[in-house]
Amino acid sequence: MCEDPAFSHEELHLSKAKRIGLMGGTFDPIHQGHLVTAEAVRSRFDLDKVVFVPSGQPPHKAGQIITGKEKRFLMTELATVTNPYFEVSRVEMDRPGASYAIDTVLYFRRLLEPGSEIYFITGADAILEIITWKDVDRLFENCTFIAATRPGYDLSAMERIVRQQLKPGYLQKIIPIEVTAMAISSTDIRRRVAEGRTIKYLLPEPVEYYINKNDLYLDQT
Ligand code: NAP
Repeated sequence: MCEDPAFSHEELHLSKAKRIGLMGGTFDPIHQGHLVTAEAVRSRFDLDKVVFVPSGQPPHKAGQIITGKEKRFLMTELATVTNPYFEVSRVEMDRPGASYAIDTVLYFRRLLEPGSEIYFITGADAILEIITWKDVDRLFENCTFIAATRPGYDLSAMERIVRQQLKPGYLQKIIPIEVTAMAISSTDIRRRVAEGRTIKYLLPEPVEYYINKNDLYLDQT
């Protein structure tokens, strides 16, 4: 167990965890699809905790307008507070520079007992680009990926890319999971707000209130 005081926040909640999920995403905003995905993966893989890790500075989104990290973090806290299995980490927000998954996975490796299992949960579209991620071999050595898909998602492109461009065996370390609620998308929610359409029930009510109170997503031009 790591004794560096800088780790104390996560250590507090993860001290007995042996199997954790890391739910990586921009969460701009977090919605029911993310929450249903996290809970489904927790239950299916018998995880002790799912830690939501809002990206600080997504490496592949330079030049795109993203809501400030503190606001995305707060929305993630509001959305997850009622589930005792869910935690939210500041690790990517507080780390300067681009948010690389490998740095996050190794950070949690150091917090957990040796032999613990780490599942990195994210969208299948993000995993489609995994060959471009930093230190991809080290990532596969340190975690299993859960690729959340929307209904009807065609997995063949992901399988082809992994087969052709990554080491044999890596495909078994990417487990797809279809989540009906992922029909909800952050992009659609932002667009709905900008167009004055309802977002009720697409995300937890406190997050909806937070978006309204802070005038988020009004201008999506
Ligand atoms: P994104 O491009 O915004 O999202 C791609 C797709 O995945 C979208 O359809 C998105 O839906 C969905 N998605 C994102 N996070 C999800 C989650 N946790 N569960 C289910 N679906 C999810 O991707 P992103 O959010 O910026 O990045 C996803 C993760 O990959 C982050 O942890 C990021 O740090 C990591 N990543 C790492 C590297 C690297 O290490 N070099 C590079 C790229 C991404 P919504 O829009 O509805 O969320």
